[in-house]
Amino acid sequence: MNKLLTILLGCFLMLMCTSTKAQQAPPQIDTRIYEIIENTSADRIETDIRKLVDFGTRNTFSDTVSETRGIGAARRWIKAEFERISAECGNCLEVFYQKDLVKKGSGSRVPHDAYVVNVVAVLRGTDYPSSYVMMSGDIDSRVSSATDFTSDSPGANDNASGMAGTIEAARVLSKYKFKHSIAFVGLSGEEQGLFGGAGLAKYAQEQNWDIVGVLNNDMIGNIEGVDGVIDNRTFRIFSEPTPANETDRQRGARRFTGGEVDGNSRQLARYIHKQVKTYMPEMNPMMIYRLDRFGRGGHHRPFNDLGFAGVRIMEAHENYNRQHQDLRTENGIAYGDVIEGVNFPYAEKLTSVNAISLAGLAWAPPAPKDVRIGGAVRPSATLQWEATDDKNIAGYKIYYRLTTSPTWDNFVYVSGVNEHTLEGIVIDNYYFGVAAVGKDGNESAVVFPYQQIRRR
Ligand SMILES: [Zn+2]
Repeated sequence: MNKLLTILLGCFLMLMCTSTKAQQAPPQIDTRIYEIIENTSADRIETDIRKLVDFGTRNTFSDTVSETRGIGAARRWIKAEFERISAECGNCLEVFYQKDLVKKGSGSRVPHDAYVVNVVAVLRGTDYPSSYVMMSGDIDSRVSSATDFTSDSPGANDNASGMAGTIEAARVLSKYKFKHSIAFVGLSGEEQGLFGGAGLAKYAQEQNWDIVGVLNNDMIGNIEGVDGVIDNRTFRIFSEPTPANETDRQRGARRFTGGEVDGNSRQLARYIHKQVKTYMPEMNPMMIYRLDRFGRGGHHRPFNDLGFAGVRIMEAHENYNRQHQDLRTENGIAYGDVIEGVNFPYAEKLTSVNAISLAGLAWAPPAPKDVRIGGAVRPSATLQWEATDDKNIAGYKIYYRLTTSPTWDNFVYVSGVNEHTLEGIVIDNYYFGVAAVGKDGNESAVVFPYQQIRRR
């Protein structure tokens, strides 16, 4: 009897060993991602930027009645364009306006009451329909004064480029089915106080959108810096270090367990950086460890305010003569955000950066939940996460990096488990995180363990 037990136990252990050893990671490359890069078109982006510029002004407080001039005509065209794209994919997009009334006096840049109207197009996810990855650009433009709603304000780079990139990404990605929903959005009221982003962030929260990340594009077409630097490969990904709405208790705990540069927005920035390094190695993504440019704002911030992961994607070299300027020539310098300042192939590259990041996240399984860590005063680190029977998950990557490294440089792949110990890796000397990996190799953003493992 004892002998039989030993044999059975031996078999059982062998099975365990073989099943945990046979952890062949899914492919590292999804060839559909190359297709997406290939299918993004500079010509279509150019056509759309020209179309947006042709509305004369897209100031948030400009005319809404005219069919040819002002923000009303511009947003109707954007909505119609999303509907055209939808018609070509069997009505795959849910297109709608989301709007809020902004009252005169609710900010120093509000000249009169107006509806701030956003345009939203949702490509509904097959497996996680209430989980959203979002790409945004802005509809509105401005000149020297943010409240000048009548002067010509082409806003070719700021931010017809981001808007056109968002429309083009919708065209390319609508040819595929994704597990998560993708929202392509045109936001308004950016230049007067981030009103559109605040409105949509609140709407998303009320509708219980589970937002994986917001990729906000604001100026993705200028390659000629005001300092004379010309660079068509470098771009910036701005992300705040930790969520703005964290509690004092969370902040206090972090002092003892680390994670000062590992909030959800930073993990999103690292994800984009990694997608680009993998699939577009000719590009130079710069992760900027700050919410936005010094003292300046963008439409990812209202999403960050509510705790959603969100980053700003933009050119590396800005030209201030072409931003927020009345059209004029002074001392031989031409001021104004005109079409001549936009490089369409560069806008195409940054659109691809967005599209491949949206696709990766939307094809991947959801990020692991309740990720925890343990290993104080031991020569090993243990990661644990919530067990799930999600059939889309092939396994998990446990990432770790030196505390000074900006990128997740090392990983161990595991499957069929919801806990793993990294032997010989001292918890004090590294940062750790866990990502879920799908059968096609696409993976979620990394989740940093802010909680410690509780042993009963
Ligand atoms: Zn601006």
